[in-house]
Amino acid sequence: MNVIKDFLLQLTLIAIPLFTYHTFFAERLKNSKIKKVVMSALCGLSILLCMSFPVSFGQGYHLDIRIVPLVLGTLHGGFSTGILLSALVTLYRLYFGIDTGFYNSILAVLFSVPVLLFFQESFHRAKKSKRIKIAACLSCYCSLIGIAWFCILRGISPENLKVQGIHLIFIALATWFFTTLNENIREIHQLRLEVQNSEKLRVMSELTSVFAHEIRNPMQVIRGFLQLLNEPDLPAEKKEYIQISIEELDRVNEIINDLLSFGKPSTNNNQRIDAGYQLRRVINMAQTFSMHQNITIKTAISDDCWIHADAQRLNQCLINILKNAIESMPNGGMVSVTCTPTDGGYIEIGIKDQGVGMMKEQIDRLGSPFYSLKENGTGLGMMVSFQIIQSLEGRVRVTSEKGIGTEFSILLPQVN
Ligand code: ADP
Ligand code: MG
Repeated sequence: MNVIKDFLLQLTLIAIPLFTYHTFFAERLKNSKIKKVVMSALCGLSILLCMSFPVSFGQGYHLDIRIVPLVLGTLHGGFSTGILLSALVTLYRLYFGIDTGFYNSILAVLFSVPVLLFFQESFHRAKKSKRIKIAACLSCYCSLIGIAWFCILRGISPENLKVQGIHLIFIALATWFFTTLNENIREIHQLRLEVQNSEKLRVMSELTSVFAHEIRNPMQVIRGFLQLLNEPDLPAEKKEYIQISIEELDRVNEIINDLLSFGKPSTNNNQRIDAGYQLRRVINMAQTFSMHQNITIKTAISDDCWIHADAQRLNQCLINILKNAIESMPNGGMVSVTCTPTDGGYIEIGIKDQGVGMMKEQIDRLGSPFYSLKENGTGLGMMVSFQIIQSLEGRVRVTSEKGIGTEFSILLPQVN
């Protein structure tokens, strides 16, 4: 009975930090570095607690499931977290004394953590179900390494093998359980964010379509009168004021155009259009304003990229993304544009630049209304583009590295 109680305690010692993280930190912390520090600290706490209250099994066996927070922490946190948690395991084990168990622990960590780090990238890229499998397999691997060193250092006996076998099964089940739990909680948070976002967009689109029209008409009148005032014999200073006013009005008009197109419901998504053909048109258009900036646009566009969409809105979405790519390279460079069918019944449009790039926080804010880092930016282009892609039941993935460049990859359902 005591053994079961001890095993349950071990599970609780991992569950509490996990829930603490999701309840108090995951959504509230915006800075990904601080999030990582908190996550590492909570995994470290789990490890210390698991090692402090092990399961006493048979004669002289002390089992714990520190491997689970070690694996999850390293897979989510990466190199620094992996090293930190390994050091913690080693130092805390040292505190209990230098014996065979200590060497066992060091060797197990040395042979496990590099493998965890090796698979970290694939873990990050994988979907939920694959992530769970990767984490469970890696836990089994780490546990097997521990068992192998245990047998080498202490010899093989039926009793040893039985205890280690139970340990292995428990670790595999615990990792599967906690990874599933963690992934499900993350998915729920993600869904909630999406619902909040789409609600925000709905309200925005209702408001904008009402107000934008009302504002545009008086603005056209103001612009007309300003042009009339701009007589040739006016002093240079006044001419400049008028010019600035007209430019500012044009900027407001641009914002209103974006807002109007955002508010416009997509009723015409049923045209069967060739995305490759539309992309070429958009590129031709973009070439006119990228010529003076020393920018080359490289294309690789496949035939037969048919989709259902409203051509005008698709073009607007592509122009917004392409324009940002061009604007991200003030000193020139290359934009590569691709369009290919994928295996899963989608067509993939890729727009990749060699521009200033973005940090994770910036990528997360893309598509928020009025988010712009440009002096004359409207911060509406991405919001409109994302909404158009969403209305086409498509998906968009943004990868970017500061100083290296950005890639937008848009997936849209293909039609034959
Ligand atoms: P705007 O272009 O008017 O600023 P957008 O909504 O089009 O508004 O873009 C929002 C912000 O996202 C930009 O100000 C820029 O900081 C960032 N951004 C978008 N695309 C890229 C890109 N390809 N490279 C770097 N930053 C980008
Ligand atoms: Mg833009």
